[in-house]
Amino acid sequence: MYRTHTCGELKLENAGQTVELAGWVQTVRKFGAITFVDLRDRYGITQLLFGEDLNAQLESNPLGREFVLQAKGTVSERSNKNKNIPTGGIEILIQSFSILNKSAVPPFTIQDDTDGGDDLRMKYRYLDLRRNAVKKNLELRYAVNRSARNYLHEQGFYDIETPFLIKSTPEGARDFVVPSRMNPGEFYALPQSPQTFKQLLMVSGYDRYYQVVKCFRDEDLRADRQPEFTQIDCEMAFVEQEDILNMFEALVKRIFKDVRGLDYTEPVERISWEDAMWNYGNDKPDIRFGMKIANLKFPLHVFTSKIAFLQNSPLGDESAAGFAVFDSAETVVAISVPGGSEYSRKQTDEITEWVKRPQIGMKGLAFIKCGTDGTYKSSMDKFFDAEKLKAIAGATGAQAGDIVLILAGNEERTRKAVSELRLEMAKRLGLRKSNEFKLLWVLDFPLFEYDEESNRWVARHHPFTSPKPQDIQVMINNDPAIKDAAKYLEHPYANIKANAYDIVLNGNEIGGGSIRIYQRALQEKMFAALGMSKEEALHKFGFLLGAFEYGAPPHGGIAFGFDRLCAILGGSESIRDFIAFPKNNSGRDVMLDAPSTIDKKQLEELQIKTAGKS
Ligand code: ASP
Repeated sequence: MYRTHTCGELKLENAGQTVELAGWVQTVRKFGAITFVDLRDRYGITQLLFGEDLNAQLESNPLGREFVLQAKGTVSERSNKNKNIPTGGIEILIQSFSILNKSAVPPFTIQDDTDGGDDLRMKYRYLDLRRNAVKKNLELRYAVNRSARNYLHEQGFYDIETPFLIKSTPEGARDFVVPSRMNPGEFYALPQSPQTFKQLLMVSGYDRYYQVVKCFRDEDLRADRQPEFTQIDCEMAFVEQEDILNMFEALVKRIFKDVRGLDYTEPVERISWEDAMWNYGNDKPDIRFGMKIANLKFPLHVFTSKIAFLQNSPLGDESAAGFAVFDSAETVVAISVPGGSEYSRKQTDEITEWVKRPQIGMKGLAFIKCGTDGTYKSSMDKFFDAEKLKAIAGATGAQAGDIVLILAGNEERTRKAVSELRLEMAKRLGLRKSNEFKLLWVLDFPLFEYDEESNRWVARHHPFTSPKPQDIQVMINNDPAIKDAAKYLEHPYANIKANAYDIVLNGNEIGGGSIRIYQRALQEKMFAALGMSKEEALHKFGFLLGAFEYGAPPHGGIAFGFDRLCAILGGSESIRDFIAFPKNNSGRDVMLDAPSTIDKKQLEELQIKTAGKS
């Protein structure tokens, strides 16, 4: 054994004991004849004191940062105590030491506030991982993992591994593929998720399955995505949506409790997809704050259930006419921001610039300041009288002292923009606190989405998701063909709802799943609706269709984005901070320098010729 204790455990009560420690040299400080060394390991930092008697030995074996040191000595009370660390009351009076390994000068400081930039820290990730900040994240990740496993085990779930070298499972992304040397010209796909396997396990009778599993998706990487990421993947047989919601909101609450000591006792709120879009402009609303959208004008074919609102809108009658920006817009939406009536011209200009940024893409912003003195000042004074301004502000629920921000334009862009604006204003007001947690189930998603490029329906979740029971006949009885692309929203398929659900935490989708199709005929109909020929469906999914003929039980499941869940619980925006060896935004591992070219010989064995570099 190299050590009797770790660098995080010795305290005043150990004074007088002879101990051995091993770890990395954080700092070396020489004061006249004595030398102080901070020794660090995973558990903490302990101060070592080298007396005059060791000077000669230190001179011939000088210590440097990150040297691996073993030292033996006596625990002794420190005169100058450090209250910030658990071992701060003691130091070790060193009797002997040995340098187990030297270190080159590290490229950045291994401290909480490091001087290393992102790229450098990624290149030397093994050094970055020594830093407290990163270590804490990995600790949290392990705690989440353990908590989930404990809960699922207690609930009778089996952890069953599924293969990585498989045939494509469509989850809406491109597959990573692996060439087969033994079957030249043929490829495996890496799983985008274990979706079909977990369904097969249900057919096999393993009615509660889970796995903490890597998934692979070859997508263009947005800020918070990784080409390989981890899911807590789950499936159950003989369940309906309600059973799944109950089982898995309890899982998240258990994780909250185990990892953050948080008692989340209230039931998780539920909202339909249509109401989420209507009230918040997106399907993963952050409900830690209100600031709901007021829909002043909107296309009825998108929000079929909202006709009454249109009739009551202050822009819904004749007197609204005259302001061309609103008259020509498909959608006019507004939010009211508390305290905004005091905004200066500079501030409103800045918000206007914000919505005009290319990422948001609006042409402009209208506003109404609801003065505390009962007045309404607006950028649209010329077009609307005080009565009308008051009515518009009233529709947003604005109070005296608020500012009403109004956006107008095409439905999709405007709704997205108002959703972003709502989040941005809440952030500015400090309403998005990282230590406050609010869960939400989003239900009743559309089953299909229309893909303009290929003029066909695509599955919004994935092709194994079942329609709501009341919509099954609509799907069976109607031809999926879209005759008039411009009027796809009028096709009966546009209104079919999925038996699918997402769980949202603080405005992030942390999990999603569905009740599955389990009859061959309906699954075949689904493949056909997605534009697959019978042959293609058989070629790709013959195994699943076959399995459905041998007593497939009703089943459903969910998968959680494990990395993201950890990041949110850790109060971070980035999942990368919670992955030991992540890729950068271009999907590269800069430490390994992967991806990279492979040897000619390997290519020959695989019978692959590359068109580009080799
Ligand atoms: N396989 C799905 C996904 O990765 C989750 C599920 O439907 O269970 O999103």
